[in-house]
Amino acid sequence: MNKHQMDIIMKLITRQYNAEQMAKALKMAKALKMVKNFKRLSRFNISKKERLDELAALGDKPCPDLVDKIWGNTKWTETHCDECRKIGADVVEFDNDIDVDSIPFHLCKNCLGKALKL
Ligand SMILES: [Zn+2]
Repeated sequence: MNKHQMDIIMKLITRQYNAEQMAKALKMAKALKMVKNFKRLSRFNISKKERLDELAALGDKPCPDLVDKIWGNTKWTETHCDECRKIGADVVEFDNDIDVDSIPFHLCKNCLGKALKL
């Protein structure tokens, strides 16, 4: 067994980060001409081409508030804590680098602080 098999990756996730990931995913989907089949996009059940074009026009570093406004909800940019269920706070994502099907775990800074006191 490879000793790196279960390395955990920690990453700070903000609404801005999510908005930029959305921009990257859109760019890739457009380049591949596969918006309908693209995994990350299909998660959000995208069907309206006009809204996608508007989102793409925001560029590589879109403002999360604009993304929400164009899309009509916060699904693209939303962050959530898996411990306290708070929505919209910056969170740290814990994931492993091997299993593509793994579900990442998210903790807000408040819950991380509580964990330190255990
Ligand atoms: Zn929390």
